[in-house]
Amino acid sequence: MADTAYDPDNIFGKILRGEIPAHKVYEDEHTLAFMDVMPQGEGHTLVIPKAPSRGLLDAEPETLAAVMRTAQVVGRAVKTAFGAEGLTLFQFNEPAGGQTVFHLHVHLIPRHEGVPLRRHEGGMADPTVLADHAGRIRAALEG
Ligand code: 5GP
Repeated sequence: MADTAYDPDNIFGKILRGEIPAHKVYEDEHTLAFMDVMPQGEGHTLVIPKAPSRGLLDAEPETLAAVMRTAQVVGRAVKTAFGAEGLTLFQFNEPAGGQTVFHLHVHLIPRHEGVPLRRHEGGMADPTVLADHAGRIRAALEG
C-alpha cells in the first residue's frame, strides 16, 4: 500500500470529473488518455485509470491491467501518429520517485533516434499545438 491516502482533488481527478479541460485522445469504461501539458517530446500522452489510485503501489491489479491495455492501444497510435521509431513509458511513484500528480498515470512518449527528451515538467505547450497532436492520435486510433 502507498503510505499516503488518495486525494480526489488532484488535477487528474478534476480532469476525470470534467472540472478542468484536457486534450483527450481515448476513453473507455476504465481509463482515459490525454495530452501532457508540459510534453517531454512531441505526442507525450498520459494514460490514467478512472479508479482512484495514487500510484502503482495502491492500485488494484485489474486497474493496472486496464491502464496497460490502454497504454498499448494508445502507444501504437502515438507511435504511428508521430512517425516514431520507438516509444518510452514512464511511471513515477511518490515525490522521491519523481511523481508530482498523485493519481496513477503512465507517460507515453514517441521517440526518434538521436532526439533527447525535454526536461520533466519543463515548459507549457501551446494549446493549439496540443489540440492538433490530440487530433493526429485520434485519427491514428480510428485508422
Ligand atoms: P508525474 O506525476 O509523473 O511527475 O507527472 C505529472 C505530469 O502531468 C507531468 O508530465 C505534467 O506535465 C503533467 N501535468 C501537470 N498538470 C497537468 C494538467 O493540468 N493537465 C495535463 N494534461 N497534464 C498535466
